[in-house]
Amino acid sequence: MDTEVKNLIVEKVKTSRISQVDFDHLPFGAYFTDHMFVCDYKNGAWETPKIIPYQPLQMEPSSRVFHYGQAVFEGMKAYRDDQGGVWLFRPEENFKRINKSSVRLAMPEFPEEYFFEGLKKLLQLDEKWIKPGLGNSLYIRPFVIATQAGIIASPSEEFKFIIICSPAQSYYGGEVRVKIAEKFSRAADGGFGFTKAAGNYAGQFYPTNLAKEEGFQQVVWTDANTHEYIEEAGTMNIFIRLDNKLITCPTGDRILDGITRKSIIELAKDLGIEVEIRPIKVSELVEGIKNKTLKEMFGSGTAAVINPILGFGYKGDRFELPKVEKSYATILKQHLLDIQYNKAEDKFGWRYRVQ
Ligand SMILES: *Cc1c(COP(=O)(O)O)cnc(C)c1O
Repeated sequence: MDTEVKNLIVEKVKTSRISQVDFDHLPFGAYFTDHMFVCDYKNGAWETPKIIPYQPLQMEPSSRVFHYGQAVFEGMKAYRDDQGGVWLFRPEENFKRINKSSVRLAMPEFPEEYFFEGLKKLLQLDEKWIKPGLGNSLYIRPFVIATQAGIIASPSEEFKFIIICSPAQSYYGGEVRVKIAEKFSRAADGGFGFTKAAGNYAGQFYPTNLAKEEGFQQVVWTDANTHEYIEEAGTMNIFIRLDNKLITCPTGDRILDGITRKSIIELAKDLGIEVEIRPIKVSELVEGIKNKTLKEMFGSGTAAVINPILGFGYKGDRFELPKVEKSYATILKQHLLDIQYNKAEDKFGWRYRVQ
């Protein structure tokens, strides 16, 4: 990871756009930093990576990505601590996962040294965009797209690997009540639900819009075969708390292996919370409301860290979760944030120093 990429080309902006951005009122993902990282894949190899001013792409309308959705992405964050240091959280996990996603979509893997050197250099160039203060961060979006021209339905042989960065404030998902999916699915056995493929998101928009019309903010996805087991909360992994036990479903073909999810599992165990990883039945949730054992439900992901779920709808009925003191959601989120912002000891070795 420490090898210098000798031929990383850097073209800096003449004037920064940072003064045009109101950092106190940042809509999520709307503003981008001055620079972007770009690397093209042609003739079976990744070419020299570049950092250039953030700018539009010029692409053929027949580029495969527009027609066949050959595209994957990642989501990660850079955090600034109170001493001015800049940190990433378990970035090697994002690196491994984007390649895992790429392989499933018949796209080439990206070299590790390009990823880390490019990312570090990009963050150093745009470091003024990483503001101190709990909740402030720089959201980092690496992605790969199929750029080859021609609408033949076969995998592209040309790609672009790009990283763009967007300053973010504390992301509060708002009050979340979820609809438990009875008909729609996001993933199937043998499919690509475990990847961060762009198409996984496209397929979720319509069912989520229908749920919104019914007054829910998100859909909790269930298994495609029986719709009896919960799998993910929108684009987040899902946890439930039954009495004092924290439960989450196992990852696999259909469930994305979230970095926040696995960090929460380790943190919770370390805090002495009993954690169980097993399939979760929808009927357990309904039962848990009735016998008052269901204390919490929450989603986990990089953007919001932990997003509590206040209630859910299922087969025409609506259920509200109780208000709990010292919720696991609050405790775990605080511990995770303290590690991410270098405010607490990092006994798991999750932090990665950028500068
Ligand atoms: C990105 C994502 C998550 C969360 O993953 P993190 O690594 O925790 O950010 C969960 N589910 C889906 C479907 C995702 O795309």
